[in-house]
Amino acid sequence: MSDISPSNSLGAHVRLQGSHKTALVRLGIDTVADLLYHFPARYHHIANMKRIVDLQKGDEVIIYGTVVSAKTKKTFKTNVPVGEIVVDDGSGKITATWFHQAFAASVLTVGTSVKLAGKVQEKKSGVLYLGNPEFEKTKALPIDVGDSLFSEGEDIQAFAAPVYPETKGITSRFIMHAVKKLFSLGAHELLADPIPTDVLKRYNLPSLATALVWIHTPEKEADARAARKRFAFEEIFMIQVARAQARAMYHSLGAYSIAPDENTIVAFTDTFPFPLTTAQEHAIVAIIEDMGKDEPMTRLLEGDVGSGKTVVAAATAYAVVITSPEGQDFGTFQVAYMAPTEILASQHFTSFQTYFKHLPIRIGLITGSGCKVFPSKSNPEEATNISRAQLLKWVANGEIAILFGTHALIQKSVSFKHFGYAIIDEQHRFGTAQREKLVHRDGDNRAPHLLSMTATPIPRTLALTIYGDLDLTLLDELPAGRKSVHTSIITPDMREKVYDHIKTELAAGRQAYVICPRIDEPDPDKRLALNTKSVKAEAARLSHNIFPDHTIDILHGKMKPKEKDSVMARFSSGEIDILVATSVVEVGVNVPNATLIVIEGAERFGLAQLHQLRGRVQRSSHQAYCYLFTDTNASQSLDRLNALVSARDGFALAEMDLSLRGAGELSGDKQWGISDIGMEAIKNLPLVEAARKEATLLLEKDPHLTNHPEIKKAVDTMDAPHLE
Ligand code: ADP
Ligand code: MG
Repeated sequence: MSDISPSNSLGAHVRLQGSHKTALVRLGIDTVADLLYHFPARYHHIANMKRIVDLQKGDEVIIYGTVVSAKTKKTFKTNVPVGEIVVDDGSGKITATWFHQAFAASVLTVGTSVKLAGKVQEKKSGVLYLGNPEFEKTKALPIDVGDSLFSEGEDIQAFAAPVYPETKGITSRFIMHAVKKLFSLGAHELLADPIPTDVLKRYNLPSLATALVWIHTPEKEADARAARKRFAFEEIFMIQVARAQARAMYHSLGAYSIAPDENTIVAFTDTFPFPLTTAQEHAIVAIIEDMGKDEPMTRLLEGDVGSGKTVVAAATAYAVVITSPEGQDFGTFQVAYMAPTEILASQHFTSFQTYFKHLPIRIGLITGSGCKVFPSKSNPEEATNISRAQLLKWVANGEIAILFGTHALIQKSVSFKHFGYAIIDEQHRFGTAQREKLVHRDGDNRAPHLLSMTATPIPRTLALTIYGDLDLTLLDELPAGRKSVHTSIITPDMREKVYDHIKTELAAGRQAYVICPRIDEPDPDKRLALNTKSVKAEAARLSHNIFPDHTIDILHGKMKPKEKDSVMARFSSGEIDILVATSVVEVGVNVPNATLIVIEGAERFGLAQLHQLRGRVQRSSHQAYCYLFTDTNASQSLDRLNALVSARDGFALAEMDLSLRGAGELSGDKQWGISDIGMEAIKNLPLVEAARKEATLLLEKDPHLTNHPEIKKAVDTMDAPHLE
C-alpha cells in the first residue's frame, strides 16, 4: 500500500507527505491536485501481454521488461551485423536478437524499459529467444509485470492497467495505489471544477470528480476515452482563454496607424520581376488594412516553403518605412525583422537592399558576429561593417529604418525611436517569450504591428491553439510555373541510378544538396552509429568515388559564421556544384539553381523537417527532385516517407503527420507546451473550435475572470504571452 498521504486536511493544494515525496516532487507532483492530474500515458490491455517465464516456442507475444545487457557483434561466417539484448521482466529473462539491424542494441541500452513484440523462437540448444522483434522504448513499465495483474488478483477487474509517464524511483503501481487512496479519502470531490457547468453540459463532458476516477481507474474503455476528452478540452480551453486574454491586452495598447496610399503599394510591388500570386495580394491587403487601425495588426502568415512570404513582408514593411510619425519631418516608422539564423538574417538584409534601393532610407543588420549598414556613406552600392555601438545609435535615433537580425535583435540594448512593425520569420523557431521581447519595448507606449511568418505547416488545430492570439492568413498558392518536387524513396540498390541522374542534371548546369544526419564520423568503437552518414566522410566519398569532376563543399552548424557565409556565397554563385550539409540548410536558404536534394538516412528526420529540406529545391522553374535515401524496412517509417511523397502541400502533410502519430508520439510536440493529453485534442478540430468559442464567450462576459477564479489561476500560472 502506498505511504503517500496528504497532510492534515484534504484541500487540493495540500502538500503530499511520505517517503516517496522527493521522487514525486522531481516529477512536479507536490500537491494532492498535482497527483490527481498526473494522468496515465496509456493503458495496457491485459490479454496481449505475457510474462517471460510463461513464453513458449511459436507464441506471438508482447513483453515488457528492462534491458539488462546489450551488445553488437558480427556473425562469424557471413559478417552480418547482429544486435543482441537481454530483457528481464522480473519473472525471467529472454534474449532478443536483430540481424542486419545492429542499431537496435545501441538504442536499447542497459537500463531502458522496453516493449518487444514478436514471435518466440528456439535455438538448436533449446534456448528461447525473440528474433527481430518490433521494439519500442517505453516510458514506463505497466504495473508490476509478473505480479498480481496476471493472477486472479484484485486489479484484474479493471479492463486495463494504467501506465504512467516515466518516473525515476516511482512505479506505475505506486502511483495508482496513491491515487486510489486519495479517491477513498474523497480528495477528488474536493477539487473545484474549473470548467463552468453549462460548458460541460453543452459538450457532454464528465465533471472533474467523475473524470478523475475514469482516467485513473477506468472500468471500460469508453470511460477512459470520455475522461481523456474532458481533460484535453480543459487544457485547450485554458490555453485559448490565455491567448484571447493576451490578445486583448496587446490590442488595448493601441498602435500607430499606417495608412499608405494603395497606389503607392501597387507601384512598389510592380517593381518585382514577377506578378504577385493572388494569395500574396490578399495577404498584403489584409495586413495593410489592419495596420490602418489604431490597434496593432497581429497576424500569423502561414505559407508553404517557396510561397513567397518575404514579398509580403517587404511590401508591408515598405508601407511602414514610407510613413512618418505625425508632426515629424525627419525619419519614419521603423521595422524590426527577426530571423532564426545568421544566414537567413543576412539573406533578407541583402534582398531588401535591392527592393529598397530607390528609397532614401538606410537598413541595418545585427547578429552575434557583427553589424552592417546599407548604404554606407562612403559607398552607396554596398553594405559596410560598422560597430555595434554605432548601429545601435542609429537605430535609437531613427536613422535606420529597417533592422534585420537574429536573437541579437531582442537584447535590451537595442532600442528604436519609432518602432512601428515587428516581423518574425520562421516563428516556430522562437518562443512566445522571444516574440514578446521583440514587441515589448520600454518607452514605446503603443504596440508595434506584428507579423509572424512560418513555413512549417502546422495543422490548423494546432495553429488555432498555440497562435490563438493571432489572426491567421494562409499563403496557399505557389508562384505560377513552380513545378512540384519529384519525390522518391530510394532503397540502397537504387543508389547508383540516382547518382547517374544527378550527374545528368549537374551537366545541365543544376546544383545539388546532399543532407546527412551527422557532421563527423562516429567514434569507431560505437559501431552502432554505423549506418548514419556524416557530412565530412560523405563529402570525401562523393568527391573521390562518385562525382570526381564536380566541386563539392560542406556546410554544418559547427562552422564559424564567416565560413558558412562564404560557403553559401560560393554555392549561390554556382561555384560549388554539390553542397553536403546537415539540416542547417533547412531554414529558408534560397538558391534557385539548386534543383536536387538527396537526404541520407531520411527516416531519421521529422516529416516537417523533411518538408522544409525539400523546400530548398522548390525555388526555380526547372523540375526539381528530392531523393529520400533509406535502408529501413520499418513500416511506420515507410508510411511517413510515403506521406511526404504523396502530400499535395505542406498543410496536407501536417494533417497526415498528425493522423499517423499515435497518442504517445505526439509528445514530440513538447515544444508547443501542450501535454500528451492536450495533443489528443489537437487531433480533433471540432473540439478545438469549441474550446476557442467557449473561451471567447467567457472573456466577453468576464474579461478579468473575476467570477472564474479557478480559470484565472490556471491562466496566470501558464506560460502564455502576457504583456505588462
Ligand atoms: P518563403 O515563403 O519560403 O519565405 P520566399 O519569400 O523566400 O519564400 O520566396 C521564394 C522565391 O520565390 C524567391 O526567389 C522569390 O523571389 C520568389 N517569388 C516570390 N513571390 C513570387 C511570385 N509571385 N512569382 C514568382 N516568384 C516569386
Ligand atoms: Mg522565408
